[in-house]
Amino acid sequence: MVTTHWDMETDLLVAGAGPGGMTAALVAAIEGLNVVVCEKASQVGGTGATSAGTLWIPGNTQSRDAGFEDSPEQAAKYLDSLIGEDRTSEHRRVYLRDGPGVIDYLAEKTDVRFLPCGLHPDYRNNIEGAGKSGRAIIPENFDGRLLGRDFERVRPPIPEFMLMGGMMVGKLDIVSLLGRYRSVVKFKHSASIVLRYLTDRLRFRRGTRLVMGNALVGRLFYSLKKRNVPVLFESPIAEFVRDQDGTVLGAVLATAEGEKRIRARKGVVLATGGFAHNPKYREAFMPQPTPPYSLAAGSNAGDGLALAETADASVDSDSHQGAGFWTPVSVTKRDDGTEGLFPHLAMDRAKPGLIAVNAAGRRFVNEGVSYHDFVEAMYRSHETADTMPAWLICETRFIAKYGLGAIHPETRNLTKHIRSGYVQVADDLGALADLVGIDPAGLQDSVTRHNRFALTGVDEDFGKGDLELNRFNGDPSHGPNPCLAPIEAGPFAAMAVWPAEIGCSVGISTDPDCRVLDGENQPIAGLYACGNDMGSVMSGAYPGPGTTLGPAVVFGWRAAMHAAGRLSANAV
Ligand SMILES: Cc1cc2nc3c(=O)[nH]c(=O)nc-3n(C[C@H](O)[C@H](O)[C@H](O)COP(=O)(O)OP(=O)(O)OC[C@H]3O[C@@H](n4cnc5c(N)ncnc54)[C@H](O)[C@@H]3O)c2cc1C
Repeated sequence: MVTTHWDMETDLLVAGAGPGGMTAALVAAIEGLNVVVCEKASQVGGTGATSAGTLWIPGNTQSRDAGFEDSPEQAAKYLDSLIGEDRTSEHRRVYLRDGPGVIDYLAEKTDVRFLPCGLHPDYRNNIEGAGKSGRAIIPENFDGRLLGRDFERVRPPIPEFMLMGGMMVGKLDIVSLLGRYRSVVKFKHSASIVLRYLTDRLRFRRGTRLVMGNALVGRLFYSLKKRNVPVLFESPIAEFVRDQDGTVLGAVLATAEGEKRIRARKGVVLATGGFAHNPKYREAFMPQPTPPYSLAAGSNAGDGLALAETADASVDSDSHQGAGFWTPVSVTKRDDGTEGLFPHLAMDRAKPGLIAVNAAGRRFVNEGVSYHDFVEAMYRSHETADTMPAWLICETRFIAKYGLGAIHPETRNLTKHIRSGYVQVADDLGALADLVGIDPAGLQDSVTRHNRFALTGVDEDFGKGDLELNRFNGDPSHGPNPCLAPIEAGPFAAMAVWPAEIGCSVGISTDPDCRVLDGENQPIAGLYACGNDMGSVMSGAYPGPGTTLGPAVVFGWRAAMHAAGRLSANAV
C-alpha cells in the first residue's frame, strides 16, 4: 500500500457532474456510501444541461402505465439487427434488462422522475423490432426555484433553445405557442408560461421553469443536495493515486487552492463527458475531415480518457461504426457578436418543401432521417462532392411557416438573418446557387426532380416520408406526403449545415458493471467509467431518441451499485 497524505477521505469519488456522474453519485449515496463529486466547471449539468433530456428505455413502466406497450425483447431484436454481435452485446443485454428498473428506482427514491413521450418512433423503423412508441421518456419539468441560490449552479441551455432571452420551452410548449390563436387551451398555456417567465425575471437571470435536459440535471442536482452529497466546483480530477498493483486508491484534484488529494475507498468513477474538445483524440478517432464543431460542453476535453490511459486502460475504438453521435448544425451569429451552434435535430429537415444538397447541387439523403444518419450521409456524399457544408434549400415561405434552424416559425422579415450571413436569399434558384457557390444546373435539376416527387408523394430517390420518423417530424396536415412539397416560388433560401457531435461514442472500455478494463480485458481495481467516458454500448449506432442519456443513467446506476457491493461481479 502506498503511504500518502490525504486531504479528504470518502468511499466513492465521482469525477464529472453531468447526468452520468450525478446518477452514479446519487445512487451510491442512497446505497449508503459516502460520496464526493468533483466538477471541473463552475456549474453542474455538462452537455446534459443543454440536451433534449430524452432517455431510450425500452419496456419502461411509465409508458406501459400510459398504455404504450413495448417489450425489451423486441428492442433486443432491433439492436441485434442494427448493430450485430460485438464486444458490447452483453452490455446491451444488461441495459435492456435493467433499464426500466433503474428508472423506477430513481422515481421511488429520488426527485428524478420521468414521463412517457408516447409516440416517438425509433430512428430506423424499417428494421425488425423497431418501436413506434413507448421507448422514449423525458424528465418531468422541474421548478428551479427549489434549488434556492444554487439555481445559479445549473448550467443553462444554449441561448438558441430559449425564447425572450431566457425562457425554456419544450416540444408541447412550442405546439401551444404556435397554436395560441387557434385554441383557448393553447392560449392559456402560452400565457401561463410567459407570465411565469416574466415573474421569474424579477428575481432570476433566466426562467426557472426547467424542461428537457435542464430539468434532468436540475432534478439530479436537487436530489444530490437533499442527500447532502458535496459537489466540489472548479475542481477537476487531474491524476490518480495508485498502489504498486495498479489499484486506484484515490485522486488528486486541481483546485484554485492547490492540489487536493482524495482517498476513495470504493473507487473513482470517471464521468467527465468524453473527449469532444480534445484535438488529439478528435483526430485519432473521428472520421476525416474531423467535424469542425462540437455541441459538447466546453469543459469536456477528454480528461477521463487521458487519465484512464495513465492507468493502462484500453479504449473501445475497434467495434465502433463511428466515433461520435452526430447532428448537422448551422452557425448562428448572436446579438453580442459571438457565434453559436444550432442543432437541426427535428424541427425543419423533415418538413415538406426542404431539400439538402451538396456543392454539386445534388440531393444526397432522405432529409428527414435522424440527425445522426444525416451526418453519416454527409460523410458518404463528401467522398464524391463537397458536402461540408451541406445546404438546406427551401422557399422563404417555408421559413415563415416552419422556421429554419434558429429562425423561428412565423418569421417573415429575414433581414437580420441575411445581414448576419445566417441565411442566404435570392429571387431565383440560379442566383441562390451562385450566391452560396454550388452548381446552378445541379440545383435546378434536383429541385425539378424533387417537385415531381412532391406531386406524386413518392420520393423515388431517397424515400423522404417513408420512415415513421420522417412522418413524425413532417407536417401531418400536408398531403399526399407530409414530408414533400414543391419548391417553386421565390424568394428561395439556403442555409449551411456542418457536421458536429452531441456526444462521443468511442470511450474507455468497461465491463457491464462499468469497471474499466486494461489491455488484457481485466478490470482495473478501483476504477469505473460511465456516461460518455465509457465506450458507448451502441457501438456508434443511434437507434432512437435518448441513445446516450439512457445508457448514461442506467450504467451510472450500475457503477454505483457495483461500488456499493450490491451487484455481483458476475451479475450478467
Ligand atoms: C442539443 C443537444 C441535445 C441532446 N439531446 C439528447 C437527448 O435528448 N437524449 C440523449 O440521449 N442525448 C442527448 N444529447 C447528448 C447528451 O447530452 C450527452 O451525451 C450526455 O450529456 C453525456 O452525459 P455525461 O454525463 O457523460 O457528460 P456531460 O453531460 O457532458 O457531463 C460531463 C461533466 O464532466 C465535467 N468534467 C469534464 N472534465 C472534468 C474533470 N477533469 N474533472 C471533473 N469534471 C470534469 C464537465 O464539466 C461536465 O459537467 C444531446 C446533446 C446536445 C448538445
